[in-house]
Amino acid sequence: MLDIQKIRADFPILSQKVNGRPLVYFDNGATSQKPKVVIDAISKYYEEYNANIHRGVHTLSQLATDAYEVSRKKIQDHINAKFSHEVIFTSGTTHAINMVASGISTMIKAGDEVLVSALEHHSNIVPWQMLCERTGAFLKVIPMNEKGELVLSEYDKLLSDKTKIVAVNHISNALGTINPIQYLIEKAHQYGAAILIDGAQATPHLKPDVQALDCDFYVFSGHKICGPTGVGILYGKEEWLNKLQPFQGGGEMIATVSFEKTTYAELPHKLEAGTPNIEGGIVLGTAIDYLNEIGFENIATYEQELLDYATSKLIQIEGLKIYGTATNKTSVISFNVAKIHPYDIGTIIDKLGIAVRTGHHCAQPIMDYYSIPGTIRASFAFYNTKEEIDIFVDALIKAVSMLS
Ligand SMILES: *Cc1c(COP(=O)(O)O)cnc(C)c1O
Repeated sequence: MLDIQKIRADFPILSQKVNGRPLVYFDNGATSQKPKVVIDAISKYYEEYNANIHRGVHTLSQLATDAYEVSRKKIQDHINAKFSHEVIFTSGTTHAINMVASGISTMIKAGDEVLVSALEHHSNIVPWQMLCERTGAFLKVIPMNEKGELVLSEYDKLLSDKTKIVAVNHISNALGTINPIQYLIEKAHQYGAAILIDGAQATPHLKPDVQALDCDFYVFSGHKICGPTGVGILYGKEEWLNKLQPFQGGGEMIATVSFEKTTYAELPHKLEAGTPNIEGGIVLGTAIDYLNEIGFENIATYEQELLDYATSKLIQIEGLKIYGTATNKTSVISFNVAKIHPYDIGTIIDKLGIAVRTGHHCAQPIMDYYSIPGTIRASFAFYNTKEEIDIFVDALIKAVSMLS
């Protein structure tokens, strides 16, 4: 059992007042809040051992390099990658997906096919469209159903020898659907296609095992898992990362440089050109330690409780419709009330100290599917409480009565 009050005390921001009311932060799908250990680790880096990494012989540079590499190892253990050089630091999920979409372009030719799903975040659509434009490949879309689940029989039909890569999210940010990625991965491999899993929305709730999953790429962002912004991870199988064309050239990623020819460094450096977000990389390890101390099983159990509680309360509100009712879903509730614009509700409840996301959630195709401009999205984390859900539901009822 989690001691939620003790956990909440780890997050300084949660005791703030917003617009004169205690903050109720239900926008965890957009970014998580940060515990004090993470905030302190950032200061500690700048106060005690700030230096550039992988180059200096001096003490501070070695301290920083060691801390950076220790963090890489932590992330390797966390996702159970086979080698630490399969863990590439990026600036986030978006950067990681672009690295793959750009890096495999030399292996894609006109007429090939790239598969994404109807449930994707724009970050996992646009880079693949750009790849298709450059190469003459075609983008195909795995459809979804009314509940917000992927239609697997259609996926089976879309796969063929032309399919070169499949890119799907582990969990949908807009609806909370947990996709059957094990199945998607196995099927893609039957056709010799590579598969990238966008884990940005999954890693706050569960611990992925990339070897058990057997995915070729798995990507996620630090800021959604209690870490700093501007850092993320590209995991790739060694053979795939070796095949990827570097996205950027520059310092750090080379073995030798002359004007006639440059040779690339070994992994992971080949894919990490330039000075990285050193403090971000180091502190991502701190964030992962923090989450593992709380325990992902505890997190999942508690968040399920919050989801069930909030769902049972919300469905009692007249005219409220929840989008995304998949059997397997995480602690995200997307909804609208009657014909009221989500933005109007969001604005009123913000005045009451409540932070939710309103709009299309960077997933316009999902909104198009339901023929709506957007939704209100409440997304819960392990530091939220049932009392906060009560405050939220009361505020919502008030907003609805003001607007209808
Ligand atoms: C947040 C998110 C992204 C984009 O992550 P950035 O940190 O903005 O790069 C991509 N996919 C999903 C599913 C997300 O939730």
